[in-house]
Amino acid sequence: MIAELSAAMAAIRETAQLAKLINDAKTEAEVNAAVNELNSKLSSIQCECVSLVELVGTYQEMNTSLKAKIAEFENFKVQAVDYSLNKVDSGTLVYSKNIVLSDGETAVNACPHCFHQNKISILQPDSVTGFGGFYVHFCPECKNKFRMNRVPPSKSRNISHHVV
Ligand SMILES: [Zn+2]
Repeated sequence: MIAELSAAMAAIRETAQLAKLINDAKTEAEVNAAVNELNSKLSSIQCECVSLVELVGTYQEMNTSLKAKIAEFENFKVQAVDYSLNKVDSGTLVYSKNIVLSDGETAVNACPHCFHQNKISILQPDSVTGFGGFYVHFCPECKNKFRMNRVPPSKSRNISHHVV
């Protein structure tokens, strides 16, 4: 049992015993002593109740936060179901799934860093392309950059190779 609850229950029990003591008291001095003790116990019960109310508030906040985390995780599980780990040309590992767009099927790549934090963040082409011969994509969520598939050799480069 929660310590604060045990303390409150004990104080209530002792208060009930004091009430019986007042009933059984033979002299005014005994009654006064028991009433003083009773008042002290009632104050203690009041303090314990305040602690319990605070504790319930804390538990309610934790409960709300945990429910939100569970909902977030459940939502991630639904979204993540079709993704699988995939190695692109550069050797980078990303989570990918195929989707059908109006112009055909395409692979959607999700950031592996965010994926491991139960977030699906779809990688987007970076303004810098062709870094080290690979396309560069970035994660809109964590801003990491990833070297992706190989940039195909351009026609002008092919021509220059033929000339040389
Ligand atoms: Zn990310």
